[in-house]
Amino acid sequence: MSDENKRQTGHSILRYRVRLYDRHFAWLKETRELYTKVVGHFFQVLKKESELLEQSDFLLLRVLETKCIGTKEMKAKGQLPEFPLTGFPKIPLYFRRSAINAAIDLVRKDAGSMEPNMVLYKGMYQNFTDHTIDLKLFNGEKWVWVTYPFTGREFPTEAIRLSPLLVIEKKNAWLEVPLSFEVTDVRTVKERMKTEERICAVSFPDNDVLAVAVILSEDGKEEQHRFFRGGKAREHRRRILMERLRVSEESRGLAAGKAEQKAEAQFRNEKEDAATYRALRDLNHHYAHSISRQILNFCLEQNIKVIVVPNYETSIDFRDKKYLKTDAYRWLGRSIISNLKYKAFGQGIVVTSVRPYHITDCCSECGAKIRRYNEGHSAGQNYYGGKLFLCPNGHSGNVARNTAINVGKSFLTYYQK
Ligand SMILES: [Zn+2]
Repeated sequence: MSDENKRQTGHSILRYRVRLYDRHFAWLKETRELYTKVVGHFFQVLKKESELLEQSDFLLLRVLETKCIGTKEMKAKGQLPEFPLTGFPKIPLYFRRSAINAAIDLVRKDAGSMEPNMVLYKGMYQNFTDHTIDLKLFNGEKWVWVTYPFTGREFPTEAIRLSPLLVIEKKNAWLEVPLSFEVTDVRTVKERMKTEERICAVSFPDNDVLAVAVILSEDGKEEQHRFFRGGKAREHRRRILMERLRVSEESRGLAAGKAEQKAEAQFRNEKEDAATYRALRDLNHHYAHSISRQILNFCLEQNIKVIVVPNYETSIDFRDKKYLKTDAYRWLGRSIISNLKYKAFGQGIVVTSVRPYHITDCCSECGAKIRRYNEGHSAGQNYYGGKLFLCPNGHSGNVARNTAINVGKSFLTYYQK
């Protein structure tokens, strides 16, 4: 393959979760537990015979099958395998191979706990449609096929579905389906910047505006900008949920009566709280998903190939940044960025980052320290929450937009042609 072809293709993987219809839950559980036990068997063999690990996974699979199942020749001669799968029901071929690979994976990763992912190989499932899947399950006596409808987000038609994982959580069963998207343009940032004339830079304030995107030309001039809103609506929903948690916390202290009644109230509260935390999480997922999608659409409209965001992973310190003072359920910047990264990649757009160094406190026009204020107030050095700014040289405007321009300019200085 020529270099030219190589860079035209690539894949990004996205994981979708769908919930299986509540049907024969005991069989799902039984099958999952059997899987863990079978993985455990191969895991122990590998631990005993660790010199086997020098071989490739492919050879290792065959060696383990010989050691635990035997070969036709061995059967003909009446020879027993070294580590037979005794005490197990008959294990179908693909179930066994999946378990062997899971065991190899656990040993190679040197995983301490035995919590293997249950990957469903073809043969463990069939008829995987957009809304149902047939699973081969062990019902305690024998293997049976069961059809499961499932609910969740629709699978995108352009994606290829890879082997799903069966996930059991308390009373629910889920399929986690890796989806492979073809990426048409996998050039690196550096390669792209040789030809790109415009970039998109984004900042993530925490008010009604959740993101600001600016399109900059290669010399750092702003061509376009867009504000992405929804912070107020989200904050309203979030407050209601936070209030629910507060009330629950209070009532826990008030629960009177006998020990059992207290314990019962405690249990009920914990269940309710768990539901509230889930709702908070879902609320954040919703906005992170929606805002990142809108930013991406803006970039697609503008034919942008490089998106620049502040790199918050390494250098943000919430203790010092009073204006970002927040809790885990509030500021969305990081989750919007991670959503944006995989969505953009699937569209051939790369998301890169710059250190958030002096991006919020300097004027993007002249570099002087800015003072923030809100409409009707006067500007001050410590006006952290201010949405507007003034610089000593007379520049002014929206703080978040100024931040986005600084992010973009900071990136462009690396790639000056
Ligand atoms: Zn200025």
